Amino acid sequence: MRTQRQVVDYSLQKRAVLRELLTGRIGTYDVCDASPYLKNAARFHGEPTDERCPICRSENLIHVHYIYGDELKQSAGQARTRAELPVLAMTLREFQVFVVEVCPGCDWNHLVEQFLLGRDGLVGTEDAAEQEAATGSTPRRRREAQR
Ligand SMILES: [Zn+2]
Repeated sequence: MRTQRQVVDYSLQKRAVLRELLTGRIGTYDVCDASPYLKNAARFHGEPTDERCPICRSENLIHVHYIYGDELKQSAGQARTRAELPVLAMTLREFQVFVVEVCPGCDWNHLVEQFLLGRDGLVGTEDAAEQEAATGSTPRRRREAQR
């Protein structure tokens, strides 16, 4: 998404949690605790991924996108499908997106990344956006996150 900025990647934190699990310092009940709200959001607004759940390895993870920001008013804190985000990004100046991965099988859940979207990000990034459109490449960051 061309207005994406201020990306914070949480893969290091996720790896740390998985390490703690392996060493037995925490149990699966500590991390497989997705709320009914989160599971509903995953079911109705989630983005399926090709990534296997690191805990049960029987289901693929689902990404849920939560949006926050003053301009969203009563929609703040709601889950949105990934397809809705570019539309919102063209109508709003700035809002925060939190991406959470959820396993529908064992209820594992973890923050994947957060970033800003919105029209404010268009200023001075025209060149980068054009380049991205010309090469048709997806941002490298996204591919790395899926590994
Ligand atoms: Zn699982």
